[in-house]
Amino acid sequence: MATIFSSGGIGWARKLSGVGPTIGGMTALLAEPLQTDPVQLVSDGLQRLRESVPGLSDTEVQERVRAVESLSRQAHSVMLDLVAEMQARNLAGHTGFGSTARLLADMLSLSKAEARTRVGHAEQVGTRRALTGEALPARLPETAAALAAGEIGPAHLRIINEAMAAISDTATPADREWAEAHLTGWAPRLDPAALGRLAARVLVWLDPDGPEPATEEAPAPSGALRLRDRRNGGVGFEGWLGSEHGPALRELIERLAAPRPASEGIPDPRGVEERQADALVEVCGLARGAEHTPSSAGEPPHLTITLDLNTLIDGIGAAACDYGSYLSAGEIRRWACEAKVIPVVLGGRSELLDVGRAMRTVPLGIRRALVVRDRGCAFPGCGRPPSQCTAHHVIHWIDGGETSLQNCVLLCEHHHRVVHHTGWGIRIHADHAEFVPPTVIDPQRTPLRNPLRC
Ligand SMILES: [Zn+2]
Ligand SMILES: [Zn+2]
Repeated sequence: MATIFSSGGIGWARKLSGVGPTIGGMTALLAEPLQTDPVQLVSDGLQRLRESVPGLSDTEVQERVRAVESLSRQAHSVMLDLVAEMQARNLAGHTGFGSTARLLADMLSLSKAEARTRVGHAEQVGTRRALTGEALPARLPETAAALAAGEIGPAHLRIINEAMAAISDTATPADREWAEAHLTGWAPRLDPAALGRLAARVLVWLDPDGPEPATEEAPAPSGALRLRDRRNGGVGFEGWLGSEHGPALRELIERLAAPRPASEGIPDPRGVEERQADALVEVCGLARGAEHTPSSAGEPPHLTITLDLNTLIDGIGAAACDYGSYLSAGEIRRWACEAKVIPVVLGGRSELLDVGRAMRTVPLGIRRALVVRDRGCAFPGCGRPPSQCTAHHVIHWIDGGETSLQNCVLLCEHHHRVVHHTGWGIRIHADHAEFVPPTVIDPQRTPLRNPLRC
C-alpha cells in the first residue's frame, strides 16, 4: 500500500523510490512522480495525447478525435465558469478596467467581440453566486450541463443562448424550460446551422403571432426588393415578400425550377439556385407576353449504364455511361432511385443477363403520401421543402427494393448524396423515417429523426 503525499500545494509531489520514510507505520512507495496542479496535469495529459497520435489505429484516431473535441468543449465550460467568477468578484473593477470583457480582451489578446461573447455566455451558463457567497445554478442549467459534459460546443451555445434571449416575454417559465431542454437535447446531434433552424422553429412554436408590430397605423409593406448592378453587367438582387404574395412566388418558382428530364442520358446538371434563377428568367419571359411554358411532357428521365453484374450488386467499382464518362457504382445506385433506369447487365463474360426492365419514377400517389409523411427532406436537421426533394429507395431498387411508401423517403439532393455514400441506415415507421448514423459519426448508432418535422 502506498501513501501519497504532496511536497506542497502546487508542483511535484516528493518522488520516493525504494524504501522511503515510514509514516504511521506504512512505507511510502511511489513509482511515478505525482502531479497535483490541475493545469499541469491537463497539460501533461495533452502532451501524452499528442505523442500517442502516430501509434494509433484508425478506430483509435476516430475515438480520440471525439474525445479531444469533448475535452476542448469541457475546457470552454471551465473558462466560462472562471469568467463568471471574475465577474462575481469584480476583478475588472479592482484592477481599474472598465468591464470584465475589457479585462478579458486585454489579458488574452481577444477581440472585443469575442470577449463580450464570453462574458455574455458566462452570465448564462457559468456558476452564479448568491450575495451570501453560496453557489447558484446557472441561468441555463441544461445548457451548462451539456457544455460541462463536452456534449455541445461554443457554436451550439451561441445559438441556444440567442434563441433563449429571443423567447417572447409572454412565454411561461415552463415554456422556457421546455425550449432549453429541447434545443440542448438536440444540439449534440445537429450542426450549428441545423440547430439554428430548430431554434427558429421553437421560437415560432412559442410565439406563433411574432412580435407586436411597432405601430398600428402604418400599413405593413408587401415586401422589399433591392436591385444593384454587378460589374459583369448582370443584376444582383435581394429582398422579401410578405405572407400574402410570398407563397405564390415560391410556388411559381419551384414549379418552374423542377429539374429537367435527362436528355441523352444526362440528368439536369443545374443546382437548385441555378434552376430557380432560370425559373425567374422564365417568369420574366412570360410577363413579357411570351407564350412558352415549360413542357411537362418530353422524354421521361432515362439513363443507360453498362456495368459488370458484380459492380452493380456489390456497389463497388465504376461503370461507363453511354455518354462516355465514368460513374461510381454508388452514384449509379443513387441515380437509379429517381430516374427511369434501363439496366443492361453483363455477367462475368459479358453475356446479357437482363435488359429493359424499366423502373418508373415514384408514382404521383406515392410521392404525395411521402410529402404528407416526411414534409420535406427527412434527414435530421434538414429544412428543405418537398419541392427540392427526390424519393430515395431505402432498399435500392437494384437490390430488389420496391417503389412503395414503406421503402421510400424524401431527401434533398445533398442528403440523398450523403445517404448513398456515407453509410447512414434508414428505417421507415408508419409516420416518420428514422436515420441510423454510421459508426464513424456515432459508435452507438443511436437512431435520429428530423426534429424539424416532428
Ligand atoms: Zn437514393
Ligand atoms: Zn436534406
